[in-house]
Amino acid sequence: MDKTKRYSEQLKHLKDESLYRTMHVIESAQGSHITIDGKEYVLFASNSYLDLCNNEYVKEKTETALHTYGTGSGGSRLTTGTTALHSELEGRLASFKKREDAIVFNTGYMANVGVIGSLTAKGDVIFSDELNHASIIDGCRLSKAEVVKYRHNDMEDLEEKLKLHKGKNGLIVSDGVFSMDGDIVNLPKLVRLANEYGMLSMIDEAHATGVLGANGYGTEEYYGMEGVTDIVMGTLSKAVGSEGGFVCADGTIVNYLRNKARSFIFSTALSPVTIASAIAGLECITADRVAALRNNVQYFCDRLHAEGFDVQSDSAIIPVIVGDEQKALAISAKLMEHGYYISAIRYPTVKKNSARLRITLMSSHTKEEMDGLAGLIGRYCK
Ligand SMILES: *Cc1c(COP(=O)(O)O)cnc(C)c1O
Repeated sequence: MDKTKRYSEQLKHLKDESLYRTMHVIESAQGSHITIDGKEYVLFASNSYLDLCNNEYVKEKTETALHTYGTGSGGSRLTTGTTALHSELEGRLASFKKREDAIVFNTGYMANVGVIGSLTAKGDVIFSDELNHASIIDGCRLSKAEVVKYRHNDMEDLEEKLKLHKGKNGLIVSDGVFSMDGDIVNLPKLVRLANEYGMLSMIDEAHATGVLGANGYGTEEYYGMEGVTDIVMGTLSKAVGSEGGFVCADGTIVNYLRNKARSFIFSTALSPVTIASAIAGLECITADRVAALRNNVQYFCDRLHAEGFDVQSDSAIIPVIVGDEQKALAISAKLMEHGYYISAIRYPTVKKNSARLRITLMSSHTKEEMDGLAGLIGRYCK
């Protein structure tokens, strides 16, 4: 009996559907330029929006931490894994997001899974945007609460659904910036509805931290309404240039998570080296860097406009929808031939037949690089 036959059949099916996935092995640091197979590419697909993964200041601070604290943390946060650096990072995150307290998880994925599962119980309801990130979806799957999906960023649909569950406890959860579309949650309305219906409000700031607002504080700063959301989750793996997930909230919620979130309790703490790079990365989120990123996004959108594309983005994510999966892969390969690295995003990350080039900008991209890419998009995507 061939025990792996059904898996190889599935893999063949994925290949037939242009949904098979492979990895490119990068031989350099993550930055606006990377090396693959000895060839240099301009990278327009990274979530390292402020180009901090290879920053000299961050590397120096991290090296110092390596010499002081060594490499591993040796235990979970609640046993032996909490160093002074972990506490310092949580303090800094709390003030960055204007909250009483913060808790750091090993990844954003683990933060979402731990938070959503532990804050909701049987009989509760979770209202989740249909385009929320997979880690939110998996958090909902682990929860014993009923899950109600609402139409993308559609606050009328959300309210209709809230009305059907009046009097229940629960959570409304949304990406702050949607990861594959780059649009922004209607936070004023979401928070108003959450408060009106007695639900906790939660936003995922993975792509908003370091990007939205004059200081990069995120979605609340973008709307000029800091402190209004009950739970602000985010990740240190994108603009911050390190690794890890976090939740900022009032002291009660954070303490509750320290005691109840299983993905926090039952996993070894992040290395002090990683934590040090996160602290230094956070320090590098300055109004100047955020403005440079925003100016690049505006410049690139204008260039795409000139090429005949109707695009606009207030985040660093600019999707060019292609539709067909095979076509998206072919365009991505063409762009690589020209020295530009842009990923083709396909199902199940996005819906079938909505494959796209997900272009992401960095604060360090030059006008020449953006001009070059815009021209190629004009040539191949029409
Ligand atoms: C990347 C991402 C996550 C997961 O964060 P990691 O730190 O990479 O695990 C969660 N939510 C959203 C919206 C993301 O884009």
